[in-house]
Amino acid sequence: MAGVSLGSELALDHDVVLLEAESSLGVHSTGRSAALFLSGYGPPPVRELTRRSEAAFARLSDLPGVPALLRPRGGLFTAWDEPAAAALAATVSRRPTMTVPTADRVRELCPVLRVDDVVACAFDEDVRDIDVAALHGHYATALRRRGGRITTGARVVGATRSGSGWEVRTADGRTWRADAVVNAAGAWGDRVAELCAGIGHGLSPRRRTVVVARTSAPVPADWPVVAEAGEAWYFRPEGGALLMSPGDETEVPPGDVHPDPLDVALVLERVNAATTLDLRGVRTSWAGLRTFTPDRAPVVGPHPEEPTLFCFVGQGGYGIQTAPALAEVGAELFRTGTLADTALAAAIDPDRTRVLVAEELARPASPRSPA
Ligand SMILES: Cc1cc2nc3c(=O)[nH]c(=O)nc-3n(C[C@H](O)[C@H](O)[C@H](O)COP(=O)(O)OP(=O)(O)OC[C@H]3O[C@@H](n4cnc5c(N)ncnc54)[C@H](O)[C@@H]3O)c2cc1C
Repeated sequence: MAGVSLGSELALDHDVVLLEAESSLGVHSTGRSAALFLSGYGPPPVRELTRRSEAAFARLSDLPGVPALLRPRGGLFTAWDEPAAAALAATVSRRPTMTVPTADRVRELCPVLRVDDVVACAFDEDVRDIDVAALHGHYATALRRRGGRITTGARVVGATRSGSGWEVRTADGRTWRADAVVNAAGAWGDRVAELCAGIGHGLSPRRRTVVVARTSAPVPADWPVVAEAGEAWYFRPEGGALLMSPGDETEVPPGDVHPDPLDVALVLERVNAATTLDLRGVRTSWAGLRTFTPDRAPVVGPHPEEPTLFCFVGQGGYGIQTAPALAEVGAELFRTGTLADTALAAAIDPDRTRVLVAEELARPASPRSPA
């Protein structure tokens, strides 16, 4: 998503070539997301980018041939003990789109939830489904229509400065010359940053598992997303079945990740404990990487060591819902080096990651158990 979205913006006034390692686009995180838009999710810079994206999603949805990119879903957040209920109450007091539903309303929204065991609930009407394929398709088409090129099967394996620009080598033996390089390599963002500039951004790829479970009766399409408020699990309807996740965040090296059977079993157990669904079978499951910086805000702007290397990484668990605003902000920073919103520019500035990485390294290692 990062490459095509920023690439399509830059193709308006630059010659853009997008190099994709795989034989097709969208194979990694973008093709594995839960496709949700949650306006209250993430740290403040992410919420600001999500807020800005809402208007951009609406503008894009008005274009000819583009379907509605956001569709209403709603989110029912549940707390199962007193500390979680207190945390949820604090969230409700900060979020105008959240209300506290009656028990009867909760039963209407999700009849299978064990409502009598829930300590507190909140309903957020501002949770939407994103049409990820349509958004991605729009950006890829726009990139090509504006004269840009997409080359698949082109894994970047080397990059050196050449005059005022770059010579980039791909695994297929080709060499590409460019005035500037954009690093939009997702979980591989630090690998590409290290290739080009010798230093990354402290990115941490984290595996997240998605399981689509069989149910004894078709799941109504109008159920909201139902989530444990601390993200220990969530589920939503998916083509008559139930899509769910244990909210895992296991740190792993970048790669083509697969679900750990323990995480699959865990989410079945947690959702069965919270509902009367009695789930037994799995229709399909997958895992993907959500790649975070230490402060969970993205990294957008010139690399501190190489100003013609533009960083566009660290989208974490929010890279679809923030994509329209991030592409606009990224293009503005690429063209002018500044943003009118200086607070946002500082929050996503690549230079800050040097300090964050140094702080991480300075932190004493946590004590290990004797085993
Ligand atoms: C299970 C799951 C659920 C999620 N749910 C949501 C959600 O509900 N809402 C939301 O907003 N976000 C969600 N996310 C996060 C979102 O999917 C990501 O933030 C987003 O897809 C990141 O896009 P990207 O383009 O940076 O990464 P990717 O889609 O991974 O693209 C990076 C590309 O770079 C290529 N590449 C890597 N190295 C090289 C190289 N050396 N040369 C050439 N190409 C290279 C890779 O092949 C890959 O295609 C979820 C993620 C997961 C895994």
